[in-house]
Amino acid sequence: ASISVPSKAPVKSVCWQDIGGLDSVIAELKEAIVWPLLYRDDFARLGIRPPRGVLLYGPPGTGKTMLARAAATEVSANFISVAIPDLVKGEVGESEKALAAIFEGAARSPSIVFLDEIEAIFGSREQSGEVGKKLITQLFLEMDNIPEDASVVILAATNAPHLMDSSILRSGRLDKKIHIPRPDFASRLDILTRATQHLSIDSASELLPCLAEIEMSGAEIKSLVRCACYSAIQRGTTVLDKQDFDAALATASTADHLAVDK
Ligand code: ATP
Repeated sequence: ASISVPSKAPVKSVCWQDIGGLDSVIAELKEAIVWPLLYRDDFARLGIRPPRGVLLYGPPGTGKTMLARAAATEVSANFISVAIPDLVKGEVGESEKALAAIFEGAARSPSIVFLDEIEAIFGSREQSGEVGKKLITQLFLEMDNIPEDASVVILAATNAPHLMDSSILRSGRLDKKIHIPRPDFASRLDILTRATQHLSIDSASELLPCLAEIEMSGAEIKSLVRCACYSAIQRGTTVLDKQDFDAALATASTADHLAVDK
């Protein structure tokens, strides 16, 4: 099967303000990714070599993709997203060619290359066999060949950092690792507040802290709010209240068709 080079344009632009509960991660990411792209000359003058790439690791649905998209929005860079499992599924020769084309495209203008589920390249070495091995070699080649002064930054994401080979964390590749944790109470409340800021909710100031008590990821919170909106529509109103969130919680486990915008 031939592999198409992914589109450079973000489906929907994401900004830092959309992201809840990850203020310190955002600050770290700005320093690592945004500053070097925005203040390239200053970095060169001071002789500081910024990280070529950053590994975002943590549980599913905690905002890793969102963070990468928001970084691209801030620096007006192309966002080039690559699902590594799709590449691993490809044919020997085709997959490496697709990867090479992605990096060639990225080098033409400021770009953030987002390598999602990067562990697939290492984790399934036995299943992926020849393709996986060739892709690792190609990926390292591409990373190592990015010119020092190029405006290309690599962001990689994984839910399974233990499957990663340390060779990718070498200097000049993914130099920096940032942990994206599951949100705690304060973070869940922040995500809920941002996710509902354009909605009318009856007694929101009491309801939202109650909902934030429930252990949920950012993706689950977004899904919950979406389900609650459906419930309100079903009741013939656009003002949400507790019964909509109760209904959403009751159906949360079976409401895959209402899954969050990914
Ligand atoms: P995976 O590891 O499964 O790919 P991820 O960590 O990359 O997940 P995202 O794809 O960024 O997670 O998040 C999925 C959706 O969940 C986002 O589109 C967003 O709607 C919501 N979401 C997740 N985390 C947050 C957050 N911290 N703030 C606001 N929304 C969030």
